[in-house]
Amino acid sequence: MESCEVLIVGGGPAGSTCAAKLVAAGLDVLLLDKANFPRTKPCAGWITPAVFDALAIDPAEYGQGRVLQAISGFRTGLISGPEVVTCYDQVVSYGILRREFDDYLLKRSHVRRRLGEGVNRLDRQDGGWLVNGRIKARLLIGAGGHFCPVARRLGARLGQEAVVVAQVAEEILTPEEASRCPVPGDTPALFFCPDLQGYGWLLRKGNVLNVGLGRHDRQDFRRHLQDFRAFLVARGDLPADFAGHFQGHAYGLYDRHFGRRCVGEGALLIGDAAGLAAVHSGEGILPAVESALLAAATIVAAQGDYAYATLEAYATCLARRRKNVPSFSLPAVFVQRLGAFLLATPWATRHLILNRCFLHSQQSTRTF
Ligand SMILES: Cc1cc2nc3c(=O)[nH]c(=O)nc-3n(C[C@H](O)[C@H](O)[C@H](O)COP(=O)(O)OP(=O)(O)OC[C@H]3O[C@@H](n4cnc5c(N)ncnc54)[C@H](O)[C@@H]3O)c2cc1C
Repeated sequence: MESCEVLIVGGGPAGSTCAAKLVAAGLDVLLLDKANFPRTKPCAGWITPAVFDALAIDPAEYGQGRVLQAISGFRTGLISGPEVVTCYDQVVSYGILRREFDDYLLKRSHVRRRLGEGVNRLDRQDGGWLVNGRIKARLLIGAGGHFCPVARRLGARLGQEAVVVAQVAEEILTPEEASRCPVPGDTPALFFCPDLQGYGWLLRKGNVLNVGLGRHDRQDFRRHLQDFRAFLVARGDLPADFAGHFQGHAYGLYDRHFGRRCVGEGALLIGDAAGLAAVHSGEGILPAVESALLAAATIVAAQGDYAYATLEAYATCLARRRKNVPSFSLPAVFVQRLGAFLLATPWATRHLILNRCFLHSQQSTRTF
């Protein structure tokens, strides 16, 4: 029978970040992921500098031998409407490839890991856990994304939660396609659906083109995606024969009142498993990393006591930090009516939409 002190389910940014901290603190950690790494992950791959800061990674070092697209501006507007171009005099975001980024973080964690092994069975045993009927662990960390088995075990009501539905296609351009592609890497496009229930993006990262759409509802998703594609083709931004295969999934937005229970007896959830993505932007990587760091600090401080009463400090910390997140308190219908006006106004685009909702420039504690 194999055993470990802490078993982490999932090796995405949440799992690997938590693993790195626990391994550095001397804990015996085992990480299981059903995928073999490097693995693809449907994602725009857009991160703010806050992600590198939180991970203590020098972007220049990360960029050696990996795709790292510096972003210093945005083209925004309503789908089928005019665009506003907003420029910054410094780098405000980066484009990365999740295949590379997640693999880099996992390797850097130095955690003992078993890749290609999914977690499909969780039993309570002797005050700890028996995982897949053969691995004993004292503490279980759910970092397996929206459908994480640990989240199910803690009572996640899948299908009844506020989610964002997103699909993306990421294509490597041939040298000939790259030379014809008019999309500037440093100025990605963000175009909002007319009902403001979501937005589409077009992001070029070196010779990779990433196009996708995310919405707060599933209704007519395919139509919204088609409209966005047709809009990009009409603008000349996307070739009419773009062959990218769209894929994606739903994941949870942070909801202070109806969110997932992220702590249980001998178990806690981080990242998408806890449903922490930012409400306005759908950004999930920074919340994944920040929650992982909080969880790791709680676990190290617990000194082997993984009772609910001890781990609850993590949930309290999450809730406290999340209170600082600024939110639009305008009624949705008002926002919709004003949407076209705001998105056509350079000041509002820069300050209310980009700085406030996407770049965290007014948050002392970022997404939490
Ligand atoms: C289309 C799309 C675009 C997005 N774009 C962005 C963006 O540009 N920027 C941003 O910040 N966020 C973006 N997000 C959200 C972001 O991808 C997630 O919030 C982020 O990946 C969360 O990280 P995580 O580590 O919690 O989970 P994940 O990255 O999903 O990692 C979970 C891991 O768990 C593994 N796993 C799952 N089930 C099991 C199991 N039973 N056993 C073992 N392993 C398991 C999976 O294989 C996976 O490796 C996007 C999401 C979508 C769908």
